[in-house]
Amino acid sequence: MVALAEVTRHPTHGVDVGGVRVGGGAPVVVQSMTNTDTADIDASVRQVRELAEAGSEIVRMTVNNDAAAAAVPHIRDRLMALGVDVPLAGCFHYNGHKLLKDHPACAEALAKYRINPGNVGFREKRDRQFEMIIERALEYGKPVRIGTNWGSLDQELSQALMDENAARAEPWEADAVMREALVRSALDSAAKAEAMGLGAERIILSAKVSRVPDLIAVYRALAQRSSYALHLGLTEAGMGAKGIVATTAALSTLLQQGIGDTIRASLTPRPGEARTVEVQVCQEILQSLGLRAFTPQVSACPGCGRTTSTFFQELADRIEGYLKAQMPVWKARYPGVEDLKVAVMGCIVNGPGESKHADIGISLPGTGEQPAAPVFIDGEKRLTLRGDRIAEEFQAIVETYVAERFGDGVDRSAAS
Ligand code: SF4
Repeated sequence: MVALAEVTRHPTHGVDVGGVRVGGGAPVVVQSMTNTDTADIDASVRQVRELAEAGSEIVRMTVNNDAAAAAVPHIRDRLMALGVDVPLAGCFHYNGHKLLKDHPACAEALAKYRINPGNVGFREKRDRQFEMIIERALEYGKPVRIGTNWGSLDQELSQALMDENAARAEPWEADAVMREALVRSALDSAAKAEAMGLGAERIILSAKVSRVPDLIAVYRALAQRSSYALHLGLTEAGMGAKGIVATTAALSTLLQQGIGDTIRASLTPRPGEARTVEVQVCQEILQSLGLRAFTPQVSACPGCGRTTSTFFQELADRIEGYLKAQMPVWKARYPGVEDLKVAVMGCIVNGPGESKHADIGISLPGTGEQPAAPVFIDGEKRLTLRGDRIAEEFQAIVETYVAERFGDGVDRSAAS
């Protein structure tokens, strides 16, 4: 018997972000970021709500000017009135020290401040402006994320490291120096914050790059050299399949090594595409790795020459849509339903086998097979569907199964 290795999480300090625990062994948290003008209160409330309802457990907003900072407490109040209590994180660059000082209601309403050490100020102003943000975090009892990014690296630190590198007998590659600068900038800034009195349990680190191998190397270094909670994200991941695949490759590799306490997918939405796709991608990554369960999973075969109709694709799509649509109600009514596994298969080759591995599965007839669809429940063939109403009947079977298994405390999987 082959035992699957349990993922041992890299031990980190737990951070309370507006009631959501990040790190310290808590389940990996899904977060997202709005792309509305934060000063547009209506649009921002609408999008934060959509992201929260899609499953984002923290939502970040840019706070880039006075109008945005002034809007934040109103956004918070409007969301609370709607029953949406998702923590809001404020993303600050260049003027965060001033905005947080001039807008105390904003400083209070936010659950976390994101600081980019590369964009906090230049030369002699840099340290003081960084300190001013940490002072606000101390004053309002908030955690911070110290997030470095290779698009906005601390230039003075980079130059110092390049000079140091040039003096080496065997200089590192330029990319290795860049990675070290990202890591060092995050760690040095965290040490400064701690020296000011902000505990490690109020600090989250991130160090984002847009190339997968670099990201993995950088986060491994952060995990080896510190115990701060880590926010994972591949910056500027891109659009469509490229963005999703690159994000999944990077985040999965790290999460499988136990690295990462909260994740975000920095996807560029196609025109008209919902912002919530980034939440769905994070959830799919965590659920695929077996780290969390959010929604019942549908396994469907890819189809091949053995099935010439698209019926099984349509059925898989329909069942998946149905399960997702039911989840808001099911979550409250049927605890544990997110662990449900459904299989929709195209023919007899793998259909019965895969269906038996699921809680409930259907093996549709392939080309030339008898027009019959056996249904498997808890690993056993229970009935066979025929005719034009297979989709409706299978959906009704799923509904009955969910109500019986998750609705009345009877755990049928334990008996099978
Ligand atoms: S289950 Fe059948 S239809 Fe589906 S991919 Fe396998 S052989 Fe093809």
